[in-house]
Amino acid sequence: MAERPYIVGNWKMNGTRAMLAQARAIDRAAQNMMKVEVALAPPFTLVHATHREVEQIGVGAQDCHPADDGAHTGDISATMAADAGAKFVILGHSERRQNHGETDALVRAKAQAALAAGLRVIMCCGETEDVRDAGKAVEHVTAQLRASLPDTLERAGEMLTVAYEPVWAIGTGRTPTVEDIGAMHREIRALLVELFGEEDGAAVRILYGGSVKADNARELLGADEVGGALVGGASLTAESFMGIVIAA
Ligand code: PGA
Repeated sequence: MAERPYIVGNWKMNGTRAMLAQARAIDRAAQNMMKVEVALAPPFTLVHATHREVEQIGVGAQDCHPADDGAHTGDISATMAADAGAKFVILGHSERRQNHGETDALVRAKAQAALAAGLRVIMCCGETEDVRDAGKAVEHVTAQLRASLPDTLERAGEMLTVAYEPVWAIGTGRTPTVEDIGAMHREIRALLVELFGEEDGAAVRILYGGSVKADNARELLGADEVGGALVGGASLTAESFMGIVIAA
């Protein structure tokens, strides 16, 4: 288990202003649990309000456009997300790769824009069930990461977090074994060291994501090289999310 686990809630397309009460409750509880770094990524519409409501936890966005401004109806730039109070952005989530056709090259361009705007990046990667069944999970995930991450990055340990999220484990209640998570995270660690050097590559946190709940968090977070969790469904109420933070 990492020295200071990083537990990030991804609210996805959930939440109106009524959800701010959950953010406040999470923030209050996190103030008594300083050994864990807690963050929330609400939908864009709640980023600014969440940022204003909380004191302790980090607030981030779930996506950004690769351009800084311009004729991109409906899109939000990294600069705009940062201006609204985001400190990080989740990029390359499998729901965006699948539902919006995001390629590795686009994800990389978004990462570069985010870093230029001063946002920390949580870079997601993961394999589908077919790829895992074909025995190609490691190959797929490392290739996806290699093509999605910027190849030069200053202060990688501070600016970058990687989240390994097997697509088949997201929202399904199914999870890989602790051994499989550890094996994947060790491969990701080796790639980060290759890309960013011994010291910075070792300092990047690697989160596990996919059906993390209070009752499996301790076991999953105990896998090799796991520095925390990216949590979807179980981050939507303070009670279920803090159950995971307590387990960490
Ligand atoms: P889940 O989602 O916890 O609901 O499986 C995780 C994610 O997509 O980040």
